[in-house]
Amino acid sequence: MKRTLTILAIGASLMSGIATPAHAAAELSLARIDCGTPQPPTAVNERFSDTYAYGDKKLQFVFSCYLIKHGDDYMLWDTGHAMTAPNVAPKESVVDNLAKINVKPDQIKYVGISHYHADHTGQIASFPKATLLIGAKEWEAISAPTPAQGVNAKPFEGWIKGENKVEPQPIDKDVFGDGSVIFLRTPGHTPGHSSLLVKLAEKGPVILTGDAVHFRENYESDGVPMFNFDRAQTVASIQRIKKLAETFKATVIIPHDARDVEKLPVFPAFAK
Ligand SMILES: [Zn+2]
Repeated sequence: MKRTLTILAIGASLMSGIATPAHAAAELSLARIDCGTPQPPTAVNERFSDTYAYGDKKLQFVFSCYLIKHGDDYMLWDTGHAMTAPNVAPKESVVDNLAKINVKPDQIKYVGISHYHADHTGQIASFPKATLLIGAKEWEAISAPTPAQGVNAKPFEGWIKGENKVEPQPIDKDVFGDGSVIFLRTPGHTPGHSSLLVKLAEKGPVILTGDAVHFRENYESDGVPMFNFDRAQTVASIQRIKKLAETFKATVIIPHDARDVEKLPVFPAFAK
């Protein structure tokens, strides 16, 4: 009996040998930071559905940034509205929020950006020491000699000039090299849009969709907003997220949907 167990144990360790790093897995946690001031509920039928699927439905939008702690490293995912944005500016900056947990801007190792719109990129200039992780096509649009309308290039000046570090991602990226945080290619809303998979140990994996979807009904019905860059890519990306959610039994969190805020504890608390 003992011998059988030993053989089984050797077999199991051989099979898991590739996936298990020699050192203990880094502790991973995730928090949501409020990154804009919500406006009155928005009628979604006209702009947020190219098939006019939502009748007279009105939804409450919010603006979200996320902080990931991996071992001693911090990663920020999206940077919300600028503090100078009329009406929608956050009540507190990301930097002031980080101060509540004694984290200085220079401690942020990576800033991951889902896409180039102003409500996701407004405060990135506060993190010049961070390596920027962004979809390659998104970076192309931001660093173009004359960025197109809707591309919020200004706050990226330090990265465009080459003073700060940027790593444009043509495909997915395993951010910390241990499979715990995966930068996902989910184009369609914009050409180089990305989402993020965060494999929390206690809560279970979480997918932060970015604007691959804007609200739950969008996600459930493969709905495409009128203003998206590419319809086919949007639908394909939503399907990819659904399949990933199925594979990893992941919680899908939509950063603009007020109903998804409660899926994470209130900052400065973290989900583990
Ligand atoms: Zn957007």
